[in-house]
Amino acid sequence: MTHPASTTIRTTCAYCGVGCGVLATPDGKGGLAIAGDPDHPANRGRLCVKGAALGETIGHEGRLLAPSIDGREAGWDEALDLVANQFSRTIAEHGPDSVAFYVSGQLLTEDYYVANKLMKGFIGSGNIDTNSRLCMASSVAGHRRAFGTDTVPGLYEDIELADTVVLVGSNLAWCHPVLFQRLAAAREARPDMRVIVIDPRRTVTCDIADLHLEIEPGADAELFNLLLSEIAARGMIRDRDLEGLDEAVAAARLSKGARTGLRPEQIAAFLDLWLASDKVVTVYSQGVNQSDNGTDKVNAILNCHLATGRIGHPAMGPFSVTGQPNAMGGREVGGLANTLACHLDIDDPGHRHAVQEFWRAPRMTVGPGLKAVDMFRAVEIGKIKALWIICTNPAVSMPEADRVARAIAKCDFVVVSDIMARTDTTRLAHVLLPATGWGEKDGTVTNSERRISRQRRVLAPAGQARDDWWIISQVGRRMGWYKAFAWDDPSEIFAEHAALSAVAGALGSDFDISDHARLSRTDYDGMEPFLWPQSPRKRGGRFFADGRYHTQSGKGRMIAVSSQEPRATAAEYPYRLNTGRVRDHWHSMTRSGLSPRLARHMAEPFLELHPMDATRLGLGPATLAEVESAHGQAVLRVLVTDRVQQGHPFAPIHWTGETAPTGRIDALVPAVTDPLSGQPASKSAPIAIRQF
Ligand code: SF4
Repeated sequence: MTHPASTTIRTTCAYCGVGCGVLATPDGKGGLAIAGDPDHPANRGRLCVKGAALGETIGHEGRLLAPSIDGREAGWDEALDLVANQFSRTIAEHGPDSVAFYVSGQLLTEDYYVANKLMKGFIGSGNIDTNSRLCMASSVAGHRRAFGTDTVPGLYEDIELADTVVLVGSNLAWCHPVLFQRLAAAREARPDMRVIVIDPRRTVTCDIADLHLEIEPGADAELFNLLLSEIAARGMIRDRDLEGLDEAVAAARLSKGARTGLRPEQIAAFLDLWLASDKVVTVYSQGVNQSDNGTDKVNAILNCHLATGRIGHPAMGPFSVTGQPNAMGGREVGGLANTLACHLDIDDPGHRHAVQEFWRAPRMTVGPGLKAVDMFRAVEIGKIKALWIICTNPAVSMPEADRVARAIAKCDFVVVSDIMARTDTTRLAHVLLPATGWGEKDGTVTNSERRISRQRRVLAPAGQARDDWWIISQVGRRMGWYKAFAWDDPSEIFAEHAALSAVAGALGSDFDISDHARLSRTDYDGMEPFLWPQSPRKRGGRFFADGRYHTQSGKGRMIAVSSQEPRATAAEYPYRLNTGRVRDHWHSMTRSGLSPRLARHMAEPFLELHPMDATRLGLGPATLAEVESAHGQAVLRVLVTDRVQQGHPFAPIHWTGETAPTGRIDALVPAVTDPLSGQPASKSAPIAIRQF
C-alpha cells in the first residue's frame, strides 16, 4: 500500500543501531518529507544528518527492478523455480552443507527469521551467516561467556544518568550520532558528569571527553585487566558469588600497563574516575569487537562490571552498541552461523530439538555452520556449491575482499538479492532478485537497547521488487515446504517468532516477546516501540538486577583474560591501518551515496596520516598515496593530521571499486579472526604506503 500525500507514517531509520524513530510524509510525487519522531524513546525527535537525508535517497536510480538470470531479464516464477531447483539439486547431490546463505544486519527481523528457518530447520545446515559477523560477533561471544546468553543489559537512559561514561573503541559522534547527542546534552545539563574516551585515534567524540586515552591499538584488555586488579587491591569486589572470580583477578594482576602505551598518570586518572562512583557505563563498539582478541576484550570489560556489581541497575553497566540497524534482531532470530533462534544454544541438542519441534522441521542442523570468513573459504575451494547473498555486498566488505570476489566468481551457482542493480557482488551473480528497500518494506528492527520498532511501508516497491521474507518464503515453498513458509504477511512471521520465544523462555533463554504471539495485523500495524523482555518480572527491560544470570549455575561468569602481545610487523608492511566509518556515509554507499548533501562531508576516500609519517614518506596534504597490503591495493587522498598516531594511519570503509581514487579498503584487510567469535580484526591491517 502506498500512502497518499500528507499522511505521515511512523517508521524507523534505515541506518545505525541507535534505531531512531522517523516521521515520513509522502509528498504525492514519489518523494518523502522526513522528521524525527518526537514520541520515539530512542531519539525523541532528534535525527542525525543521515537520517534527515533519507528522503533524498529513495529515487529509483540504479535500482534492480526485475529478476534476471545470467544477465537476461526473467519473470519471478522462472527465477524462483531456478533458485529452488538448483539448491534442491545441490543438496541432493552434495548434502546440506554444500549450500550457504550470507545475509545482513540490514534485513528486517521477519526476513532474517525466514532465512534462518529455511537454512537451519529445513535445508538442515548451519551455513547461514551475516555481515553482523564483521561488527559485533565478539560481543555476542563475550556476553554468552559471562552471562550464559547474548544479553545486552543496559538501556540508553543509563548513559544519560551515569556519573562516568567510558567510550571504548567507539567514535560515537559519527557512528551513533543521536546517542552521542543524548550523551552531550546530559553532560551539559550535569557538569559533574565525566566522559572518558579510549581510542588510539583522537576522533570527534574526544571533543567532549574529560580524558582521552590514546591507547596503543589492541591493548584494551590490558587496561581493563589493570582496572580489575585495582578493584581487587582497593577491596571493591562487591559480588563474590561469581564463577571464575579468583582466576580472573589472578590473570589481571599479571598486567602491568606497559603494553597500553599510556603514561602512569593517565592510567591513574582512568582508574580513579572509573572507581569514583557506582554509576559507570562502559560503552564499547568496533574498536573492541574488530580484533583478534575481541572476545577477551569484551570479557575484560564485563569482568570489571560484574566484580563491582555495576550491572543491572540504572546508570551503570557495560553497553555494546551495534553498528547496523538490525544486528540485534538478527541475533534474536539466530541469524549467526553459531546461534539458534531466540537466543537458544545451537550446541545444545535439547534446544535444537525444541526448535525443530516448534517448526515441525524435517532436517534440523546438527550444530553450528561456517562463520563468514570460513564460509567464503569454503566457497573458494568448491565445498560450497550454491550461495545466496541477501542484502549485503561481501565483494567489498569482507576482509581480503578481492579474494572473496574471486571465490564468489568461481562458485557454481550464486544468487544475489539486492535493491541495487550494479554492485561489486551483483555482477558476480547468476540470478539477481530485486528486493524492496527502506520505505518500501514492512517489518521490525531491534536497536542496541533491545527496543523493537516497526519499519513501515511508505512507498510503492520499485519495479518488480519484492520483500526479502516473501522471496525466501517462495523458495522454501518451491523446495517442498509449502506449509512452513505459507505466510501472507510479515505480521504472521513476527507472531510465530514471538510464539517461539515462549518455547525458548521455558528453556532458560532471556529472549521473551511472547506477549505478541497472538498479535493481529491490526496490532502489528499499530505496534509501538517496546523493550523486551516483557515478562512481568523483567518488565521495564532491565536484566541482572537480582544477581541471577542465564548460566547453568545462575551466577555471572568472570573470564581470565591475558594481555595480548602486539602482532609482529613485517618489514615490507610497516604501518598498521585502522579502519572505520565517516559521519555521513553508510556501508558501501548504495543509499547514502545518492544524497548530494551527504556526499559533501567527505567527497572521496582518504588516508589520515600522522605528520611525521607524511614527512618520512614525502607525502603532502591532498597528495595521493598508494596503499598496499599482502592482499590488495588502494589509492587514497592524504589527510595529514595528528589525530592519528605515528605508524597507525586511518582510512574509511565506504568506497567501492567504481569510485576513484580506489578506496576498497577491505581488500587490504587480512582475514585474521578472533578464535572464539570468528570476527575479523579489521582495525590493524599491515600495510605499506608510498607516493602514487
Ligand atoms: Fe539514523 Fe543512526 Fe542517525 Fe538515528 S543516529 S538518525 S538511527 S543514522
